[in-house]
Amino acid sequence: MTTNTWLHIGLGSFHRAHQAWYLHRLIAQGDTRWHIAAGNIRNDAEHVVAALTAQKGRYVLETVSPEGERAYEEITSIQKLLPWQADLQPLISEGAKPETKVIAFTVTEGGYYLNTSHRLEVANGDLDCDLKGGNKTIYGVITHILEQRMANGAGPLTLLNCDNVRHNGERFHDGLVEFLELSGKQPVIAWLAANATCPNTMVDRITPRPAADLPARIKAQTGIDDKAPVMGETFIQWVVEDTFRDVRPDLEAVGVEMVESVIPYEEAKIRILNASHSCIAWAGTLMGRTFIHESTLTDAIYAVADRYVTEDVIPSLGDNGIDLPTYRDVVLKRFTNPYIEDTNQRVAADGFSKIPAMMTPTMIECYQRDTVPHATAMLPALFFVFMEQWHKGQLPYEYQDGILDANAVHAMFNAEDPVALYAGDKALFGELAQREDFTALLREKIQAVYSLIR
Ligand code: NAD
Repeated sequence: MTTNTWLHIGLGSFHRAHQAWYLHRLIAQGDTRWHIAAGNIRNDAEHVVAALTAQKGRYVLETVSPEGERAYEEITSIQKLLPWQADLQPLISEGAKPETKVIAFTVTEGGYYLNTSHRLEVANGDLDCDLKGGNKTIYGVITHILEQRMANGAGPLTLLNCDNVRHNGERFHDGLVEFLELSGKQPVIAWLAANATCPNTMVDRITPRPAADLPARIKAQTGIDDKAPVMGETFIQWVVEDTFRDVRPDLEAVGVEMVESVIPYEEAKIRILNASHSCIAWAGTLMGRTFIHESTLTDAIYAVADRYVTEDVIPSLGDNGIDLPTYRDVVLKRFTNPYIEDTNQRVAADGFSKIPAMMTPTMIECYQRDTVPHATAMLPALFFVFMEQWHKGQLPYEYQDGILDANAVHAMFNAEDPVALYAGDKALFGELAQREDFTALLREKIQAVYSLIR
């Protein structure tokens, strides 16, 4: 029997705890028609790739529930490791093979280089390099792959974005087409339209960076000496639009929800799970907590997140076919899982992308309903105070943000009225940046944050 390749670009922890788990379950059920080949665009995890290569792609996934039940499973779906090299030839050649039918990727939210109008950040150095033929970004790499597929007659495929980006398939597709237009590659655009699809997906499983004591726990529980294990929560969800080009794995056989549209799922997830997660991480950091569960179990922080979802998000989303109050309670319960040891630092990252993507739409919709987004405004207020501490060098860890403009943030806090500048930032707040009542609301909520953390 021929086996199809699922090429995964971005061999981080999440891929190994999520997509690789689903494909492993298929193999474990006896369906061996698919395997994963995986590699990275960035040279940032070669020790993991080397360890996985030595283990023939196998590694142990530890999952843990909020009640502390742990389970161990050796994952077998990654069967080919593509070593990193500067020209990314191993990755590109694999993508260009006819047996590669799906190319999926997790390259982080920042890896799409999109501004708030969903256009490419062409001033970005990596993107600029790729527009001149380089391969530092997902667009440059996929372009090289598609060109080789065209040349080899390698046939159609599916490009599957598995990052936490709203309408992730569509955004990637539009970014790629813009990239191809800017590089004058009209024939590739025509080939893409005729031969590839980019389904939207909604992915969910909290996957922290593997804890230092994980290998020892795995050794004790399974006897396996694993140099590249991963851990995640027990909960897992994957909702995928069923628009694959050519063949796909029998994903529904392992619990993937194949749907016509992921939009209701992703809106619920982005606004309820992702936004409140960041809110809890910013608040927790400001209140001296290290881990997400400690922050969520702090009553005052839980109340901010719960009010945000209950008072503003649920009315905004309306009746979308999902039981939103239950979803809220399940999500907040997942955040209290003490065994995951997810850090505020990891979840607090990328605030400058998260506010416009995850929080501003709810505030705009509240105003459209003639209500003031009191509960949601607490989130950007928390981020303001969080960044104020960053500006003063008072954060307890390094803050990571793919689009942080450090000079601009320092200039804002050195100005006479930082709140006015912050509230007037169109990249963060879109049409609300024009409104005096919105500035006043943020002023009030920033004061509320100072009281909360005092
Ligand atoms: P990770 O740090 O373990 O891996 C990040 C991966 O992205 C690495 O392979 C890295 O090489 C690659 N990468 C980073 N920036 C890039 C860029 N600009 N261009 C190309 N490649 C780039 O992180 P992770 O836990 O695997 O999470 C990765 C992504 O998965 C998240 O950003 C998110 O979109 C999605 N996700 C993660 C979780 C989670 O709980 N960890 C949950 C849902 C979705």
